[in-house]
Amino acid sequence: MDKSSTLVVIGAGHAGSELACGAREAGWPGRIVLIGEEPHLPYHRPPLSKACLAGDTQAPELLIRSAKAYEKAGVQMRLGIAVRAIDRAARTLALSDGSALPYDRLALATGGRARPLPCAQGAAANATNLHYLRTLQDVERLKPDFLAGRRLVVVGGGYIGLEVAASAIQRGLQVTVLESEPRVLARVTAPVMSDFYETMHRTRGVRIRTGTSVQALHLDATGQRVSAVVCADGEAIDADLVVAGIGLLPNTELAEAAGLAVDNGILVDPQARTNDPLIVAAGDCTRFHSALYGRSLRLESVPHALEQARIAAATLGGQARTHDPLPWFWSDQYDLKLKMVGLSAGHDQVVLRGDPGQSAFSAFYLQGRRLLAVDTVNRIPDFMQAKRLVAGRAEVNPEALADASIPLTQAVPIAAV
Ligand code: FAD
Repeated sequence: MDKSSTLVVIGAGHAGSELACGAREAGWPGRIVLIGEEPHLPYHRPPLSKACLAGDTQAPELLIRSAKAYEKAGVQMRLGIAVRAIDRAARTLALSDGSALPYDRLALATGGRARPLPCAQGAAANATNLHYLRTLQDVERLKPDFLAGRRLVVVGGGYIGLEVAASAIQRGLQVTVLESEPRVLARVTAPVMSDFYETMHRTRGVRIRTGTSVQALHLDATGQRVSAVVCADGEAIDADLVVAGIGLLPNTELAEAAGLAVDNGILVDPQARTNDPLIVAAGDCTRFHSALYGRSLRLESVPHALEQARIAAATLGGQARTHDPLPWFWSDQYDLKLKMVGLSAGHDQVVLRGDPGQSAFSAFYLQGRRLLAVDTVNRIPDFMQAKRLVAGRAEVNPEALADASIPLTQAVPIAAV
């Protein structure tokens, strides 16, 4: 590649921003163009369900980098423009403004979109008080409805649903969370963690109904607003607004239409390369093989988007760096800092350390003696240690783990620390 070569990055989110600037740092010599469908410079998404709803965070505070930083890195921004098609044979992109853009190398960082509520069909799908939370625009649309005294029904007791519930109750809304699983956070945490979070929300006034799936949305007389959420048992819960947080659909259609390998995520190798040697991909839109867990994964987290973007940037710069990420994530609800590392699927034992009653404890997920994952609540030192232990596939002593008076480093064989 030389100065006349063009790298185009599609998707101006966490991964796209990091990839575009990282490619320059990694030695990409030519033009870099970052194309984003949203009208904003890349911004931090996690605050959308936290500070943005609980308080008054303004858009400029959310920016990942300033306009100057892109300028300095020689990254040209094309915002408010979507890529409609990739012509791999001609190495050209069709853009939503009708123009075509040639590329020498391409990076896909298209992220994902909120999964629509299956029962929101017809007019209900367009109800003005039915909300999702993925973009700044979603928050701007939600805020006028997000007022003290309003009755909010949150569909989905995952991280985003619970964060919205916490923000809402702090702002004085009346909140009901509906979760189809028997407990909140069921797909990602142990029952002890779900119990803890359910208690924390209930004591602050959130109504939580688990094992309850949503069957229909009733509209009011205008036919434009949801007036009630109908559960599978027939009960109708009155609502002034509804927020659905039921997961993410990866934006893979563009890649699929271009003939790239896609399987619930754009398939990439440890160097973030797709099956086209000219195209890399990073972030929520990708799926990759995890050597650490021995299976393919699609992760939805900022740390993963950033790390994989740096690997993709290195690949574009001609370096052979590889990626086997350690999944980690955080969630802030009230004054509770939940940090999780690893994936707990396949565990046969959960060891608690610390005291849920004091809102400071950790749950260690073990398979035999091997540590698979750790969730920590308000125990940052545990989290820091846990990252190293999970990455190192450490074998641990459950009795020592459970005794918070024994330093965590002594709960594992010296060789693993
Ligand atoms: P995205 O951030 O989705 O960015 C992709 C961008 O590509 C979008 O702007 C999209 O418009 C654009 N795009 C897509 N297709 C095209 C196209 N054809 N042409 C042009 N542009 C296109 N993660 C954590 O680790 N911790 C948290 O606490 C946390 N909280 C979250 C709270 C909320 C409310 C949300 C929504 C997410 C949260 N996440 C959190 C997840 C985290 O934000 C995502 O994992 C991360 O944003 C993924 O970055 P990405 O760049 O892969 O994708």
